[in-house]
Parts: sequence; structure tokens; C-alpha cells
Amino acid sequence: ASEWERFETWSRASGEHNARAAASLPLGVTSSFQYWEPYPITIEKARGAWLTDVGGNRLLDLSMGFGAGLVGHLNPQVVAAVTETLNSIGTLFVTPSPQATDMAERFKKRFDLDMLRFTNSGTESLMYAIRAARAFTRRRAIAKIEGGYHGGYDALQVSVKPALEDIGPADRPIPDAPFDAITGDVHVVAYNDLGQLERAFREHGDEIAAFVVEPVIENLAIVLPDEGYLEGVRALCDQYGVVLIFDEVKTGLTAGHGGAAQRLGVKPDLITLAKSIGGGLPLAAFGGKQEVMNVVVDGRMDHFGTYNGNALVMAAADAVDRLITPEASQGLEDLNTRTLDTMDSIIAEYELPAHTVGLGAKGCVTWSTTPVRNYRDYKATDFGVAELSWLWGVNRGVLTPPGLDEQWLVSLAHTEDDMGILIEDFRSLAQELR
Ligand code: PLP
Repeated sequence: ASEWERFETWSRASGEHNARAAASLPLGVTSSFQYWEPYPITIEKARGAWLTDVGGNRLLDLSMGFGAGLVGHLNPQVVAAVTETLNSIGTLFVTPSPQATDMAERFKKRFDLDMLRFTNSGTESLMYAIRAARAFTRRRAIAKIEGGYHGGYDALQVSVKPALEDIGPADRPIPDAPFDAITGDVHVVAYNDLGQLERAFREHGDEIAAFVVEPVIENLAIVLPDEGYLEGVRALCDQYGVVLIFDEVKTGLTAGHGGAAQRLGVKPDLITLAKSIGGGLPLAAFGGKQEVMNVVVDGRMDHFGTYNGNALVMAAADAVDRLITPEASQGLEDLNTRTLDTMDSIIAEYELPAHTVGLGAKGCVTWSTTPVRNYRDYKATDFGVAELSWLWGVNRGVLTPPGLDEQWLVSLAHTEDDMGILIEDFRSLAQELR
């Protein structure tokens, strides 16, 4: 209770702002993920790894826009590229441009794709990837992971973090969706469970166009694939003619130089990208194998978008692509590994009921002692301590992602000292919990 009192004292300006905003914007925010109880911190500006809120408080940003801030806020190279474009090139032509072709060529190489198209958000990329899979297979249904989040497209608003208390037998995932009509076309399977996927394909394989999965789940803290899981998924999709879509909106460049698929050595048919590729601007993409992308080439489906591949986001993407070299990715991962190792030693020293998980530039503390292999394993999480941990940090100027199931990001702007602030904050919490 005293931590909440402390919160409401220093963040009063954010509370007042949210009350004003709520009269015009539902919940006072422009995306429902921006809202949390009792009110979100309202940020006025961001630079490097630091945020300033409407009350003038400085916060170390470890959320970094859910990973979109991989190169840091106002990265000088991104700012220079975007400014140059604004001053001398233009923003939007709705025609082909050499910039879009250049970036497509470089993305092809980096992510091992035959073809891709640019979009403006992860949601759009998922929507079009599913449309492409449907056009390619002439099938309608999809399969997705229990608990998984993939943006706001209707077909994927099924079993998005359903209530944990509703979890039933292990072989019966909960669909849970806002509209019954949609669930009929969506088959839900638990992550890391090839048996469930096999059964869904055996029973409905000739109706299923695509299996959508984050190769590493980053909407449930971080859940790594069991050894052989993704290879098994690949084989089952091949066997049943189902298009395998890796949603790399969250993993992408934060997972390593070529994304999670390349890191893990399993090639999907399509991949969706957003967040980290755009340097903080709204850039996303979907692409993959030639035979699937041919549905756009030969007109079995169209892909539209006024803002797709506009000059401003292409300039930002160009800067990000130059910044995220293999060496830069390794540097981020090394700093993250040192951070995770120190967190592990604190967990051991204070015998905390927690463990860490990391991938590339991202890491998280999960408040359970048992490993998490899929959504239902979150039943073992102590969400009370998880919430206290978030509150403890933000009250001391360290903003970790508010969802309790998100992860921190080491960006190019984070120094060893910045990560030391996160670590010392965690140590002080450990002392408090002792
Ligand atoms: N897919 C995943 C895995 C995501 O985490 C998100 C957003 O958080 C999306 C898709 C949707 O992306 P956007 O918010 O850009 O529409």
C-alpha cells in the first residue's frame, strides 16, 4: 500500500493528465496497451534510454516501445536520415521509389526472404500474411498458440491471454474470443506441444491455411522453444500443406542480426516484421518464400496501403539497417547476458521464487521457480510480486514494461551503467522481500 501511495505522489501530473485525456480518448490512451491501473505514466519526451514524464520526472526506459526502440530514442543517425528526407526528398509519393527497392533488397538478404512487402504495423502484416496463406492454400481456417498475441486483426483475437483460472485439461486449450463467429475458424494449440498441433492438423488439416506462431514467445515474458519443437512444427506444416507464419514483430532484430528464425535455424514460409526494424517510426513488413508471395505477383490477392514504404520510414529503416551490424547485435547480447547473469546471482543469493529468461537483447524475470513452456505454466507465477516488482522500479525511476509478461530491452542507447541501475533496483527489491 505504501508503494502505491508513493506512486500516486510522484506521478500526480500523469494522473491528472489521464483524467483529462479520458474525456476524449477511451481510457485516455491511443492503444489499449498504453493503459494500466490506476493510470499510465504520460511521457512528454524521450532521448537515448531516458524518458521525461509530464511532471518532469526522468525514468530509465527498459520497455523501449515494446522493442521498437532498439537503436535508442532519437538515435542521431535515424534523426539525420529522417531530417535529410524531410528537407530534400519528401515524405510520401504513393509511387515506387528507389528507397523502397533498396530496403527490400537489404531485408531479403538479412532475413533470408525471396520477396516482401512493406506495411505500417504488425497488425497489418499479420492480416496480409494470413490473407496470402489463404490465397495460396485456398483454405480458410488458421491455427494459433493458446494465450498468444499477434495484434488487432479479428482472426487473431482468439485466445489472447485468456483468464488463467479458466484453464482446463492440458489437451484442451481455451479459445476465448470476443466474437463466437470467429473462433470457428481458429484452432488453438499450446506452445511447445507438437501432439496438440498434430491432432489439430489430423482433424482439420485440409481446412487450415496457416499456423501463426512467434518462434520465441515474447508476449508471455519470454518462452523459448523446447529442443526440436520448431523443427517439428516445420515438418507438420510441410506434411499437411499448412503455411508456417513466424510472427517476428517482437523478436526481429532484437533476437539477433537476422531475427529469431535464422538464429534458431528453422525457416518459415512467411515472416512478419515490425517494431525494431523502424527506428521508432511505423514500419512493418511481411514476406517469405517465392511460391507464397506469388499470390500477390499473379493477382490471387492484392496488398494495398497508401503509406506503405514511404520515404520517411524507409530513411529510418536504412539507418537502422546500417546500425544493427552483426557486431552491434553481439554487443547488445553481451550486455544483456551480463545483466541476466547478475540478476541470476541476486535471485540465488536472496533465494527469490523467480528465474530469468533472455534472448538476444531482451530479458525478463519471471516470478515462478518452475520453467515456463507455454501459457498455462503462468499459473505458477506470483503476479502479486510481479506487480510489486514493477511498482518498486517505477517508484525509483526505472520503467520496466507494465504488462508483467513483457521483457526489458537493451538498446544501443543503454550503457553498462544504465543496466546497473536496473540491477541495483532489483537488488533493493530482493532485500525488501527477504
Ligand atoms: N505481433 C506481435 C507478436 C506483437 O507483439 C504485436 C504488437 O505488440 C503485433 C503483432 C502487432 O503489432 P502492431 O502493434 O504494430 O500492430
